[in-house]
Amino acid sequence: MSKKYVYLFSEGDATMKNLLGGKGANLAEMTNLGIPIPMGFTVTTEACNKYYDDNKTITQDVIDEIHSTMNKLEEISGKEFGGEKNPLLVSVRSGARASMPGMMDTILNLGLNDKTVEVVAEETGNERFAYDSYRRFIMMFSDVVMEIAKQDFEEILHEMKEEKGVELDTQLSSEDLKELVVKFKDFYKSRKGEDFPQDPREQLIESITAVFRSWDNPRANVYRRMNDIPSSWGTAVNVQEMVFGNKGETSGSGVAFSRNPATGEKKIFAEYLMNAQGEDVVAGIRTPSPIEELDKQMPETYREFIDIVNTLENHYHDMQDMEFTIEEGKLYFLQTRNGKRTAQAALRIAVEMVEEGLVSKEQAILMMDPKQLDTLLHPAFDATEMEKHDVVATGLPASPGAATGKITFSALEAKERHEAGENVILVRQETSPEDIEGMIAAEGILTVRGGMTSHAAVVARGMGACCVAGAGSIKVDEKKKTMTVNGKVYSSDDYISLDGSTGNVYAGKIETVEPEISGHFGTFMAWADEIRTLKVRTNADTPHDAAQAVKFGAEGIGLTRTEHMFFAEDRIFPMRQMIVARTEEARRTALEKLLPMQKSDFKGIYKAMEGHAVTIRFLDPPLHEFLPTQEKEIEDLATELKISVDELNGVITDLHEFNPMMGHRGCRLAISYPEIAEMQTRAVIEAAIEVNEEMGWSIVPEIMIPLVGEVNELKFVKSIVKKTADSIIAERGAELAYLVGTMIEIPRACVTADEIAKEADFFSFGTNDLTQMSFGFSRDDAGTFLKHYYEKKIYDFDPFAKLDQTGVGQFVQIAVDKGRTVKESIKLGVCGEHGGDPSSVNFFHNIGLDYVSCSPFRVPVARLAAAQAEVRNPRKK
Ligand code: ADP
Ligand code: MG
Ligand code: MG
Repeated sequence: MSKKYVYLFSEGDATMKNLLGGKGANLAEMTNLGIPIPMGFTVTTEACNKYYDDNKTITQDVIDEIHSTMNKLEEISGKEFGGEKNPLLVSVRSGARASMPGMMDTILNLGLNDKTVEVVAEETGNERFAYDSYRRFIMMFSDVVMEIAKQDFEEILHEMKEEKGVELDTQLSSEDLKELVVKFKDFYKSRKGEDFPQDPREQLIESITAVFRSWDNPRANVYRRMNDIPSSWGTAVNVQEMVFGNKGETSGSGVAFSRNPATGEKKIFAEYLMNAQGEDVVAGIRTPSPIEELDKQMPETYREFIDIVNTLENHYHDMQDMEFTIEEGKLYFLQTRNGKRTAQAALRIAVEMVEEGLVSKEQAILMMDPKQLDTLLHPAFDATEMEKHDVVATGLPASPGAATGKITFSALEAKERHEAGENVILVRQETSPEDIEGMIAAEGILTVRGGMTSHAAVVARGMGACCVAGAGSIKVDEKKKTMTVNGKVYSSDDYISLDGSTGNVYAGKIETVEPEISGHFGTFMAWADEIRTLKVRTNADTPHDAAQAVKFGAEGIGLTRTEHMFFAEDRIFPMRQMIVARTEEARRTALEKLLPMQKSDFKGIYKAMEGHAVTIRFLDPPLHEFLPTQEKEIEDLATELKISVDELNGVITDLHEFNPMMGHRGCRLAISYPEIAEMQTRAVIEAAIEVNEEMGWSIVPEIMIPLVGEVNELKFVKSIVKKTADSIIAERGAELAYLVGTMIEIPRACVTADEIAKEADFFSFGTNDLTQMSFGFSRDDAGTFLKHYYEKKIYDFDPFAKLDQTGVGQFVQIAVDKGRTVKESIKLGVCGEHGGDPSSVNFFHNIGLDYVSCSPFRVPVARLAAAQAEVRNPRKK
């Protein structure tokens, strides 16, 4: 039997997300649950992938299957597609596996043409409705399928409203709308050079093709990269019988959340508009009413609505985001999905659902996107500072957080100013999907129009960006680049501050304070810690960062980069003295000066870590990085060092490398100059002995030798470390255990890990360098060409941000296997950027590492990702 590419809703269910997309699978599930939804069918994601494989064409066999399923839909509905009686009208909706709000466009009222529009007018006795639907269809079809900008049609509509002296679309008469349809069609013809297509079957196939095509549009690509969605998933297309919210004052459409998506409160949150269709609510064309109003207007419909919302939440065991339409008093649902929510709301919902007995702790752990925690870890406004500033406007608290920046009126400018290092607030009438990059760049988003479910609100919540929506008292002049509130004018040089939790907009710049892990957040993270088996450490080079990480739950330091300490102003001189030294003796003199500084740093870090394990990596970067580059600086340094400028220039030239990334760095430095390793060992060991004595702790410092590719390198450096450490310990009559291990970051080290393991107490995978060395491109230079790789779909992701599990991951796996065969108990960790990336953490859990280490702000993210990995693939027996 040949493959099936089209499924009626009655043939699917919620488990078929990969094939039917999220929207399609849930429409199928709702059909099975007996919820009133208009019937339809789904063209699968496999059909989308096939479209791309077949050179962007839908092949005849798939077209035939679509038509024959359409015939079935005609039978089920008792209507005829393009028929002269009872014409069937449908929507064409995209729906990928993961929801991508606003990324792909929907076409409504398809099947209308010059004939069917009249049939509809006659049969419904509602000419106004028929032509309202037709003008919407012409606009959507032209925009999505034919790429004629929607704005052009909106302009025509706008002119018409002015001409007729009305403000709202709903005030146009049926004669007006008829006239508008003629104008729209004329405009279409002037653009395309042909008439608006009249054959519904042609309209249908063209629309499905357009949805497939839209999977690859730039907006969709940006969103996918931001959200880790591979391009290989493809999108499904849903074709569904229309129901009409624009049939008059007993019809309407709206959106609903089963709990409040901003706060998480257990209370249905919904908005609707009477006499409106589809996206009218989301687009902020008129201000919607809260659902409680419906109870007064249509109490029965209201009760049915509440019942269905509760049924869906209980069925999916998660907060639902739904779309509904009321057609002449009859209620229909059009979509349900697990709703996007703010981080605060997500935590509250997860914790309360466990308390309500609706989900288990394990399920609750899986409900939260780890990356979202990020938003809770960033500063909020200082309360006393906030009082000093005036609230100049108030909008809806659409997405929490605190943001301060200069006003920017366009997405493009927001992006440019952000890249130039400015903090900006994007201020828009309302946002649209084209604004996505500007929204990412901005600290916060402020809109004049739109509700809690407007584009800006939904996207900002998804990104965890602060957003205040619908601040109607603000007048924005995008051309003049000014914003006016209460008669006061603000320009792009003025600061404003947004509080996304209250909806307040303040004039000026407000200072912020550090966040805390308490309340629902604390409860939730305690569950994550209970569940997970993978430990989480932090990368920290200063006591300040270390203390921050401990607050965020770090269980040790996985990486302290000692070189960062040498860049400080008071240290760079002895460091440079050490580098230009020509003899061992001169080098030792300089190192003597560095020793007390390094030792006090280590003591500070040990103390900040409150007795947790600390891994210290020995000097790693090439020495020339520490030398000056400007002529003036070189002269000054030469004077200070009491050598000639020529001599110093000679040293600099000698140290020059063609490829420093692969040059004289890592353990190679300690091999050339063992006295550096000696000094660093002394600092680590003396600091540990002294802190242990002082605090009554028993810290076991872990010394990490970087860039080992050959066991003899490690052997050599380790012998220096041991000799130095043991003599200090003996000299002081102290007791101190310490470990010597290595960073695994060179492919050769991975494949010879069995030999290296004999000499190492631990391995810590330096996946940044390992990625660079495995791919053979420099991480400093890759940015310039990797963007072409994304555009051309050669890579979906930045391998420096998300571990390449198929390639680099194999090296890690090999090293783990080889290391463990020689030394079963060898401690294994990761200290690259990837230690804070949820999907990479999942991989590290699965291959059995002991810990991951990441920057302080990623620690909670990693803790949750580790707990999720445990739930998915338990190691605990
Ligand atoms: P998105 O993914 O952007 O939300 P949707 O496919 O859900 O796009 O549709 C956009 C709007 O059109 C929604 O408000 C939806 O409820 C409405 N809509 C879609 N199909 C129908 C239909 N068959 N009848 C009535 N309204 C519909
Ligand atoms: Mg849409
Ligand atoms: Mg939708």
